Amino acid sequence: MRQEAEKIKDEIIRLRRDIHAHPELGFEEIRTAGLVADTLTEIGADDIKTKVGRTGVTAIIGPGTGPTIGIRADMDALPILEEVEYDYKSTNPGVMHACGHDAHTAMLLGVAHVLRQNYMENKDKWKGNVKFLFQPSEEKWGDDGHSGATAMIADEAMADVDYVIATHVGSTGDTGVCTFQDGPALAAPDIWNAKIFATGGHGAYPHRGTDPIFMLNTVLSHIYSIRSRMINPLDKSVVSIGSIHTGEAGNVIPAEISLNGTIRSFDQEVREQLWAETERAFKLVETLGGTYEFNISEGYIPMVNSAKVNDWMRAVTRDLYGEGAIHEGPIGMAGEDFAFMVDKVPGAMFSLGARIGEGTGHHTPLFDIDENVLSQGTAILAETARRFVTGEVG
Ligand SMILES: [Zn+2]
Ligand SMILES: [Zn+2]
Repeated sequence: MRQEAEKIKDEIIRLRRDIHAHPELGFEEIRTAGLVADTLTEIGADDIKTKVGRTGVTAIIGPGTGPTIGIRADMDALPILEEVEYDYKSTNPGVMHACGHDAHTAMLLGVAHVLRQNYMENKDKWKGNVKFLFQPSEEKWGDDGHSGATAMIADEAMADVDYVIATHVGSTGDTGVCTFQDGPALAAPDIWNAKIFATGGHGAYPHRGTDPIFMLNTVLSHIYSIRSRMINPLDKSVVSIGSIHTGEAGNVIPAEISLNGTIRSFDQEVREQLWAETERAFKLVETLGGTYEFNISEGYIPMVNSAKVNDWMRAVTRDLYGEGAIHEGPIGMAGEDFAFMVDKVPGAMFSLGARIGEGTGHHTPLFDIDENVLSQGTAILAETARRFVTGEVG
């Protein structure tokens, strides 16, 4: 599969650049989904369905009987104004593929290409199927309370899938090195927002009223001690504050403060404890004469990788690219809605290192990846699926 993927490397890169130049936000992937469906038709995939989970696409390669392995790619871009200069720069100003989902979509089309060829030449050996899951909106929930993955699941896209695999490019990981992590590997990314209410008043006469900035002292010191004093040191978690807004004038004590931040964890119990402790930090303002409001917007669930499925991909990576291409986690505290797919059936995602130079951050205007890894990601996903459908693993 390494040679097969290498042969179509230019085509995978061409597709990635085409998608990169025409980025679309979550649940608006009309052109991208069209390109995916047309390419799958050219390849000769079966059972091509569009508008799955609103703007997703699915297809099948295989005999139609036996077990099925799903491979997932996400298609959405981000609301970021691209600052990288190349001839395939975003033609949709303010929208950019700054997380590599263009690469995921191109690689999965590459996988369909090499697997279709393999199926036509080895029909007698194929005892199962590969289902291609091109999902919309990984980056955000839609107005209907669905992200791309949950919308696909609600549309029964996973109903005939027994296992599911995926990769995510990493713009800071060593190029060509695959990071694997069994069990919880990406976090539940929750957002919280809060307000502190007091009376406010004249800066010269603080004793005549209550001061929310003074109360904030206590709140901040409690929030920053949640991890060190309230959570088991063996549990991974983080609570961060991203914004604090209050006040207009130097001689006026304001009456209100608004804050928001994120809470990330790998475990539901720890997650609920973090919610409760963060709220408790705000409850402390009551002893100082204030009141508060506190809300959690729940993010995706933690992504829990199956060790068994990871082992299939580790073995493929080792066989095709050698031991040096394997790195054992951690993957990180980011969130991924692929979590809902691996919650449904056993599955795993590995991170594919694709750094250029010092590396650029995901979700930044300068995000960029080394396209040379696209054939590698294609080969690993395709070979894992090939071994599954031929019964070599399962
Ligand atoms: Zn992202
Ligand atoms: Zn992503």
